Amino acid sequence: MASGGPRVLVVGGGIAGLGAAQRLCRHPAAPRLRVLEATAGAGGRIRSERCFGGVVELGAHWIHGPSQGNPVFQLAAEFGLLGEKELSEENQLAETGGHVALPTKSCTSSGTNVSLELVAEMASLFFGLIDQTRDFLNAPETPVASVGEFLKRELNQQVATWTEDEDTKKLKLAILNNFFNIECAVSGTHSMDLVALAPFGEYTVLPGLDCTFAGGYQGLTNHILASLPKDSMVFEKPVKTIHWNGSFQEDAFPGETFPVLVECEDGTRLPAHHVIVTVPLGFLKEHQDTFFEPPLPARKAEAIRKLGFGTNNKIFLEFEEPFWEPNSQFIQVVWEDTSPLQNTALSLQDAWFKKLIGFLVLPSFESSHVLCGFIAGLESEFMETLSDEEVLLSLTQVLRRVTGNPQLPAAKSVLRSRWHSAPYTRGSYSYVAVGSTGDDLDVMAQPLPADGTGTQLQILFAGEATHRTFYSTTHGALLSGWREADRLIGLWDSQVQRSRPRL
Ligand SMILES: Cc1cc2nc3c(=O)[nH]c(=O)nc-3n(C[C@H](O)[C@H](O)[C@H](O)COP(=O)(O)OP(=O)(O)OC[C@H]3O[C@@H](n4cnc5c(N)ncnc54)[C@H](O)[C@@H]3O)c2cc1C
Repeated sequence: MASGGPRVLVVGGGIAGLGAAQRLCRHPAAPRLRVLEATAGAGGRIRSERCFGGVVELGAHWIHGPSQGNPVFQLAAEFGLLGEKELSEENQLAETGGHVALPTKSCTSSGTNVSLELVAEMASLFFGLIDQTRDFLNAPETPVASVGEFLKRELNQQVATWTEDEDTKKLKLAILNNFFNIECAVSGTHSMDLVALAPFGEYTVLPGLDCTFAGGYQGLTNHILASLPKDSMVFEKPVKTIHWNGSFQEDAFPGETFPVLVECEDGTRLPAHHVIVTVPLGFLKEHQDTFFEPPLPARKAEAIRKLGFGTNNKIFLEFEEPFWEPNSQFIQVVWEDTSPLQNTALSLQDAWFKKLIGFLVLPSFESSHVLCGFIAGLESEFMETLSDEEVLLSLTQVLRRVTGNPQLPAAKSVLRSRWHSAPYTRGSYSYVAVGSTGDDLDVMAQPLPADGTGTQLQILFAGEATHRTFYSTTHGALLSGWREADRLIGLWDSQVQRSRPRL
């Protein structure tokens, strides 16, 4: 570690923390830099695992909007991590409106196939309504508080105009219920009734057809990690409390006084001039009362409480032989007895799997055939409490139902994420919940002390939940890390300016 420069600690080694460290370590102020990471690896919610003879993503899956305005895309291209198709201009220019691709197959819970034309018709209706939510951006008031209520209100009007027979109407509603579940997975929430309507349109979609990393998303964070000075990353170093607005002296730094002292779970005490906090919003929700001493100002504490942080998980199933057609990409599962306009009070134990949106067919595995299911909300959190055997059994039963084949061989193995149980994450990603606004995301990003008294920029905040328009994404997280690094660099540069003799 360089000696003499400002001492900076970054808490959290996800893409926000790594991005901040990458930018700071190149600055001539030569900061004495350490990244303190609670777990044994870097990447945080970017987590690729070698499994089934290939690589699977337990966390981030796609580069959303892979085009020139996306720093994750740019870095990935620079590091040579993307293929020709992903880099092509055609891919970069594609406009998806942020909506997921249509399924290549849609099955019902009684084992019949749904016509893809009907699915496309319902998708167009649903995504059309999602697009209409943008009309409320900056509106002084909204007719209802949540995206879910708005969608249901509009759908009720549409349903009244449907002229088909009762069975077709029920099937259309069941398909729409699946689209509600997809939107919950996209937004990382239990219900769209929890997502605030007015700020929903503030989330910004970049152009480009979402793409993946053939060698794993974590190749990106590993590249950033490799560019940091040796020994700057400290693993298995969970931070317990950040003491700030103080005047700390430690034996290891004789003659120096620091405004911040970071106390780790193992009792280590690390003084610093500046700390960049990048821990997930889920962790802050659980620990903010003890994580900061003195406590956070009321506005920031409120923002942490009000913003949403839900769960989206993945369940990978490995099969001996594929039972799906060779060109399948996404198999949608439609539960015939469901409707977004009706609340069914089924127990989580009996019905958790009905929240599963379907299965993505993973490409490019040597000898295995792998499906990836997505499930959000309380059902997803319940799934985390089950054993692998229980999950495998339930999903085998689901697949036997939807294929209409009671003899369908069970998957030979299962792997899943458990983001809600992960003690240093406590969920998947953030959303603007009813009762909060985009201003709360900005408040999350404000450094401390907020009132301008005391040493400047003692604690800075980065991470996906601090980006007003790209929250919940890897590019939002990376940009937030760079933003806070630039904030510190701005301070150092202004100090150099002030100390220069005038001619
Ligand atoms: C299932 C899932 C799918 C996703 N899919 C996508 C996708 O397709 N595209 C996309 O753009 N985004 C996706 N995301 C979101 C994306 O992964 C995150 O927005 C992004 O990785 C967050 O980065 P971060 O640096 O802000 O936080 P994190 O990656 O969570 O990093 C924070 C780090 O802080 C550490 N930490 C926590 N507490 C402490 C402590 N007390 N002391 C020290 N260290 C601590 C954590 O261990 C972690 O490593 C997905 C996320 C999940 C969970």
